[in-house]
Amino acid sequence: MVTVAARSGFAFENTYAERLEGLYQPWQAAGAPEPRLLVLNEPLAAELGLDPGALRSPDGVAVLAGNAVPEGATPIAQAYSGHQFGGFSPRLGDGRALLLGEVIDVAGRRRDLHLKGSGRTPFARGADGKAAVGPMLREHVVGEAMHALGIPTTRALAVVATGEQVLRDAGLLPGAILTRVAASHLRVGTFQYAALQGDPELLRRLADYAIARHHPAAADAANPYLALFEAVLDAQAALVARWMLVGFIHGVMNTDNMTISGETIDYGPCAFLDAYDPATVYSSIDYAGRYAYGNQPAVAQWNLARFAEALLPLLADDRDAAVEAATALLSAFPARYDEAFADGMRQKLGLREWRDGDDELARDLLELLRAERVDLTSLFRALSSVARGDAAPARDLFVDRDLFDLWARRWLARLDAEGADRAGAAAAMDGVNPVYVPRNHLVEEALAAATGGDLEPVERLVDVLRRPFEERPGLERYAEPAPEAFGASYRTFCGT
Ligand code: AMP
Ligand code: MG
Repeated sequence: MVTVAARSGFAFENTYAERLEGLYQPWQAAGAPEPRLLVLNEPLAAELGLDPGALRSPDGVAVLAGNAVPEGATPIAQAYSGHQFGGFSPRLGDGRALLLGEVIDVAGRRRDLHLKGSGRTPFARGADGKAAVGPMLREHVVGEAMHALGIPTTRALAVVATGEQVLRDAGLLPGAILTRVAASHLRVGTFQYAALQGDPELLRRLADYAIARHHPAAADAANPYLALFEAVLDAQAALVARWMLVGFIHGVMNTDNMTISGETIDYGPCAFLDAYDPATVYSSIDYAGRYAYGNQPAVAQWNLARFAEALLPLLADDRDAAVEAATALLSAFPARYDEAFADGMRQKLGLREWRDGDDELARDLLELLRAERVDLTSLFRALSSVARGDAAPARDLFVDRDLFDLWARRWLARLDAEGADRAGAAAAMDGVNPVYVPRNHLVEEALAAATGGDLEPVERLVDVLRRPFEERPGLERYAEPAPEAFGASYRTFCGT
């Protein structure tokens, strides 16, 4: 192993490894026989204060491929449990990933650098520890899109092809390693794992660490651990509301895929809605529709109940009192979620405030979209044209245009009622209703090309998605819904 800190520019800290012994195992990457850099996220490198040239150099690529441990890094596989599709697995952990360490970015934020697909670890449970190019590029594409949409998310610093083939249902596929950047990799499942160890001191150490790193205001509360729970609940209510407002379906909202920071993590069988329908499921492994689009808020609340259970020993000396305090907060989740969703919907509709009757106005629109299978992204973007006096782009999305006209008249009256200047409202709406989202057919097309060796479509798609609100000539096909035939049969496969 070589050390390359000086040349690659990494300056690692390892607070997780130092403070949370018992929640990880030190481990080394398997190494990649023929590493080749497929993607380097230059804007993110700049945020991290890293030199893109150094990262692209053989020493930099060696780090990104798991072939060299940078000076100051102590790679570890993190331990966690998780409820997967409702069933509890006490020992999941990083089966194919390693935390290299933490870097402080140019804004002073602590960020994890994590290799995914870097080989088997003690948590691999018989699986190969590897990842394929397609799913790792999906994390990159969707992560950049979410970031540009202003939605908290982990992001890819790099994707490196390993030169190995990995065996999946689809056959032999080119292998890859993703370097993931996250506010942290603390998950609800991390707390479930700590709680299971039967060591209250370990659980407390983890909670104190999470408070200090993500929710420092909780430290000053009368009950810091209850305040931690509430802060995570608020962060998740806000996050899932943001997903719902753009039509994002995570696809595998297991408790090990829910962060304490409030970032979206693990883009496996994720997808974006075309036609608006709350029952939509794209994941090939979600047979019961547990993680359907419309179920996501309820699943978030269910996962938070599991988080509360793990925290119980810290919430009060008396178990009944702890349950009561957690239940009171948990039952506030739907209201917090509704508030976050309404605030986003208010902006999508160009309104300055949310008044009585606005819930109904929004619900009626969504019901209309559902009944007519209208494309969610196209419709909201077209509403600003309606405000500018050209209804056609929106009403043409409906079969029964009269129904839309009736709704639009109500909405315009509502806009006028708050004395809004319609042009100003339209401009504000264009800043929150994207033209471009990672539509499933575009993502699949780009990933298929990349798997075949052509990275250009992925690069072009990421470039489009990085400016989602700015309509640009020549990019019309990126704004269009999937051809009907694609949408009807679309399934995404778990990102393994
Ligand atoms: P995920 O569905 O990607 O969130 O992963 C769930 C669990 O399975 C985690 O513990 C992963 O580390 C583990 N896992 C997924 N794929 C692999 C693989 N190819 N090799 C080893 N572990 C894996
Ligand atoms: Mg996961």
